[in-house]
Amino acid sequence: MSFRNFPMVPRVVFGRGCFNQLDEILTPQRKSEKAPFIYIVDDVFKGNDWLISRIPLHHNDKIIYVSASEEPKTSYVDGYRDDIVAEFDEIPSGIIGIGGGTMLDYAKAVALMLTNPGSSADYQGWDLVKNEGVYHVGIPTISGTGAEVSRTTVLTGPERKLGMNSDYTPFDQVILDPELTKDVPTNQWFYTGMDCYIHCIESLTGTYLNAFSESYGEKSLGLCREVYLEKETRDEDAQDKLMMASWHGGMSIAYSQVGVAHAMSYGLSYLLGTKHGIGNCIVFDQLEEFYPEGVAEFKQMVKKHNIDIPKGLCANLTDKEFDIMIDVSLSLVPLWENALGKDWQQTITREKLRAMYEKM
Ligand code: NAD
Ligand code: ZN
Repeated sequence: MSFRNFPMVPRVVFGRGCFNQLDEILTPQRKSEKAPFIYIVDDVFKGNDWLISRIPLHHNDKIIYVSASEEPKTSYVDGYRDDIVAEFDEIPSGIIGIGGGTMLDYAKAVALMLTNPGSSADYQGWDLVKNEGVYHVGIPTISGTGAEVSRTTVLTGPERKLGMNSDYTPFDQVILDPELTKDVPTNQWFYTGMDCYIHCIESLTGTYLNAFSESYGEKSLGLCREVYLEKETRDEDAQDKLMMASWHGGMSIAYSQVGVAHAMSYGLSYLLGTKHGIGNCIVFDQLEEFYPEGVAEFKQMVKKHNIDIPKGLCANLTDKEFDIMIDVSLSLVPLWENALGKDWQQTITREKLRAMYEKM
């Protein structure tokens, strides 16, 4: 038997206000005055002086504002790469993503596509990336996805929604400053935080579980419970804990897999553009059959925070549209296998998935 040998993020700084250390962290990584640092920043921060004024711009460094209203697409990643290559004489010294999972995934993908030829769609899958990317840094401003620690960057391409999973994908440096999450709107704080909660439930109940995943998953789950069930406010302690829950949740699935909620929400997202956090909540809400305890606790959290989980998304879909979602979902074999074991196809038929989607 051979075991997978995973890379990890080699450097991480944690603490309220550690964002101020960005300049001192980046300076030694600069290749030359002509090789810029490119910041991919969520456009929600445009005009936000508190954050933007602390981004150290020297020489020809540049901020690119990107909207998080759509999930990353391979065509956009290729476009940013092409623009950077056209604008600068030298390959950038580094790419820095500032935002949620969307910006973190853009930063990883653009860094890889600056050193790998062709389209990012050619690299959707496992271990297809051939060359090390440019130095890349992740700075999350919302907690939950685990994208800051994961070995993938999830992209929607012409044919599929699938990550570029590779040893070159993880960040070279992560900056965890919980203060950056203080202004996240409540619904979004819940949806993205539940991505983490769902990672834990899917990992801890999965057939791929081992002591490595369990140790991270249990810690993360405990932190999620503190934040979403025990605490009455989103105070500084809650911000700190949710940031670390996200990290541990990401570590937990590194050595196992996600499960039914992710397999189905990828279908929703591919067809309808439903975003990851909210899509996971819409699906998980209907998964009592697979995760009875997790779903009961999730419903308690929804109630406590008075969160709106949309319903009726699939009410008016055509047979063809259902088929597209079902195809995307069924293609995610490792997720189903983790959730239900090698014989998963005995439980999960096209008819079964259709009936489940119809409830959402
Ligand atoms: P997001 O990045 O899409 O952001 C959600 C919303 O929150 C956006 O409107 C954004 O503008 C806003 N926001 C972010 N930070 C804010 C702040 N500090 N103040 C105010 N508003 C803020 O959301 P997400 O849930 O973090 O990421 C979802 C994406 O992550 C999806 O594309 C998904 O595919 C990806 N993902 C990747 C991985 C991975 O391992 N690479 C894992 C899970 C999810
Ligand atoms: Zn997720």
